Amino acid sequence: MLRLTNTLSGTQETFEPMDGTTVRMYTCGPTVYNYVHIGNLRTYIYEDVLRRHLLSKGWKLVHVMNITDIDDKIIKKSIELGVDLRSFTAPYTAAFFEDCATLRIQRPDIITPATEHVPEMIEIVKKLLEEGYAYQESDSIYFRISRFPTYGRLSRLDKRELKIGARIDADEYEKEEPQDFVLWKAPKSENEPRWEAPFGAGRPGWHLECSAMAMKYLGPTLDIHCGAVDNIFPHHDNEIAQSEAATHKPFVRFWLHGEHLLVEGEKMAKSKGNFFTLKDLLERGYDPLAIRYLLISIPYRKQLNFTFDSLAAAAAALDRIKEFFFRLRTARLSAGANPALAGMIAGAREQFEAGLDDDLNTAEALAAIFKLIRESNIALADGLMQEDNRAAILQWFEVVNERLAIVPPTEHLVQDDAEIESLIARRNEARRNRDFAMSDQIRRELLDRGIVIEDTREGTRWRRN
Ligand code: AMP
Ligand code: ZN
Repeated sequence: MLRLTNTLSGTQETFEPMDGTTVRMYTCGPTVYNYVHIGNLRTYIYEDVLRRHLLSKGWKLVHVMNITDIDDKIIKKSIELGVDLRSFTAPYTAAFFEDCATLRIQRPDIITPATEHVPEMIEIVKKLLEEGYAYQESDSIYFRISRFPTYGRLSRLDKRELKIGARIDADEYEKEEPQDFVLWKAPKSENEPRWEAPFGAGRPGWHLECSAMAMKYLGPTLDIHCGAVDNIFPHHDNEIAQSEAATHKPFVRFWLHGEHLLVEGEKMAKSKGNFFTLKDLLERGYDPLAIRYLLISIPYRKQLNFTFDSLAAAAAALDRIKEFFFRLRTARLSAGANPALAGMIAGAREQFEAGLDDDLNTAEALAAIFKLIRESNIALADGLMQEDNRAAILQWFEVVNERLAIVPPTEHLVQDDAEIESLIARRNEARRNRDFAMSDQIRRELLDRGIVIEDTREGTRWRRN
């Protein structure tokens, strides 16, 4: 039974798709005015774990993600550079897909840019105008929050804070500014991009795009809408208001919000300049799997403070998995199954599933893996593991990998001694130069190939695992 914390109720609820078979899920995608940072990627990784867990339940999934390829920041930067919107956003969109692939983030079923859905957005604005939920002011169109009695219910805004009649044009603003928000913006200068509409040429505000795209592909009521906590207000409260005012139906059953990745206690953010892109970390020699491991090691609803020490600990955890695999694969075992170990494997499976069912507790799922590794290492050392136990463990690790995508590849073992010697020589040179990042990387590369090294007084020894 899958339990998820629903921001709408503030409590854990049992999740099942509305129609019993197909989960309709929407993810707010990136704003492609820059390279994403690993904070953004933490959010896409928790959504990826969710996606994989939902599929494991046997449900079908339609997962939609938008690409925000028009907003205040994109327009400002593209005008500054004198390029059209598409040429400006295309490289960032491509880089985002590449980062996702590197981090083993599965592609949502539908990924689609805002600028291809302007007609759908215009339809929503027309409806809101007709029913008096929206009004025109200086050629722009605003949503009248006083017409929507439950406005702000997701972020639990106190009604008295509403600034009735005040308007805000910016796509992003603070919780302290609950005002009539802009649905459609009249161009402020000659070179701003614009679309024709019955209520005047202009371009959509940011919030409108997610309502239009979500409802186009998933219908008026979605099962799950996810994002990070900074999306709750104003973005998701505004999505609820405009969607429900347009359809008179509940927009989303489960709202899920991941907590932020922090740096020295502060939110990692492009605007603060305290961010790392995936490329930054790869260039420093870090393994993308270690980055993914780190980002799932703390459950999504808890803040995670990024440090290089924790990244090194994640790499060390992956090394433990690799070392275990070599030991397991190369052990000579007798036929049959040790029932005690079979019981431990079943226990690990159960703990893993129960952890993920408990609001995606990835820390608990990882704990189940390492508990079994400890138990199996003891069984191997004591000669208590048997052939069928090994088969069951290997099979379960395939499931683990399908669900968390953190199991390192360990199949490729090198045979060529000269190549190994030359890698070891390179590592020793790196150590002499005190380039420990490089020497660690080479040690890891050797480990990937099934080579364990030991530094002794007589020099570096190596052996095949
Ligand atoms: P943006 O491109 O700014 O719209 O961000 C893309 C996604 O990343 C949104 O869901 C944000 O809420 C999320 N996000 C931004 N900063 C962080 C962070 N430091 N940690 C986790 N998620 C974040
Ligand atoms: Zn959105």
